[in-house]
Amino acid sequence: MILHRLRNDFDLATITVFGGVAILGIAPFAVYRYLTGNAAAAIMDISIVAGISLALAHAWYSGNTKRAALFMTIATNLGCIASATLLGLAGLFWTFPVLLVNFLLLGHRMALALSLFTLGILTWHGRAFESRLELAMFLVSASVVGLLAFMYAYRTESQRKKLENLTLLDPLTGAQNRRGMDRELEIAVKAFSRDHKAYGLAIFDLDHFKRINDKYGHEEGDNVLLNFAEIVRKNSRKLDRFFRMGGEEFVLLIPGVDLATLATICDHHCHNIEKNLYCLNEKITTSIGAALLQGNEDRQEWLARADAALYTAKNTGRNRVVIDDGNTVVVDLFTDSHTSK
Ligand code: GH3
Ligand code: MG
Ligand code: MG
Repeated sequence: MILHRLRNDFDLATITVFGGVAILGIAPFAVYRYLTGNAAAAIMDISIVAGISLALAHAWYSGNTKRAALFMTIATNLGCIASATLLGLAGLFWTFPVLLVNFLLLGHRMALALSLFTLGILTWHGRAFESRLELAMFLVSASVVGLLAFMYAYRTESQRKKLENLTLLDPLTGAQNRRGMDRELEIAVKAFSRDHKAYGLAIFDLDHFKRINDKYGHEEGDNVLLNFAEIVRKNSRKLDRFFRMGGEEFVLLIPGVDLATLATICDHHCHNIEKNLYCLNEKITTSIGAALLQGNEDRQEWLARADAALYTAKNTGRNRVVIDDGNTVVVDLFTDSHTSK
């Protein structure tokens, strides 16, 4: 259990290793300082050990490693300043692991700010140094450690973000995948219950797509999906979010709309697809089922209502929009003009 948590949570492992070593390393000094009559240094050591222990306990019990990391880095940076102030050069040795831990545990901006703060205070009072030359040499070596740690943290952070984005994207169309969709729908449901922010959701399903694949091959089918995604994206508003739910089914999350606007937007997309989507010379259409998010509804219920509307759109002739108005599923009147074409 403990090993499993350490292996799977890098922040927790860093907090534990650094915290553990720091506690084991500093606690004996607290006793030594007390026995040799340096009460101020003893109190300082005990305070640092207490701060680090609290952060360590918080990380393990709450699992909130972000807060624990912030607390631990602040405690160790203050401890570093205090020990260099009270003990002089000997206290400065802590600066190097402290700088490293800042960048390992915090975001690179926060780490940079905290590191500059610590180095700034040490330079400003200058008590740990016997000469300006010593101060200059310290600043150069600490800057090298800080700069390398900054570069490492920056690269790790941007790689992590890139990887995270990749796991949320559909490689064919570049739209977000089902995982990304679930995440954003969950955010929408929360925003709605908290601030009553309105959201519409539209499920697109290409009509008779199996036939297109059978007739022209899977590769041409893939091209159609790619073009379809481009058309929808080009005609979406900035705030709209587009997802590939799976196969030839896509979802558009449309914030800030009422029922009539949702119907107009969906109708617009349906027309655009009908006008612009082709496989060679064959016209391809889409059916759309849409629903506004309602109170006390979760993501699955919301999707299910839009899906039921889509089912009705398929059963009443395809190439049309059906909006679920909350009570009954109604065929949207806007599409009557073009379904009869
Ligand atoms: P309907 O109008 O009722 O939606 O008919 P349909 O043929 O589109 O319905 P169905 O859901 O039965 O078929 C979906 C087809 O989509 C089946 C599969 O061949 C095709 N498909 C799913 N994913 C992909 C994909 O990634 N690439 C391609 N080329 N085809 C796909
Ligand atoms: Mg389908
Ligand atoms: Mg289909």
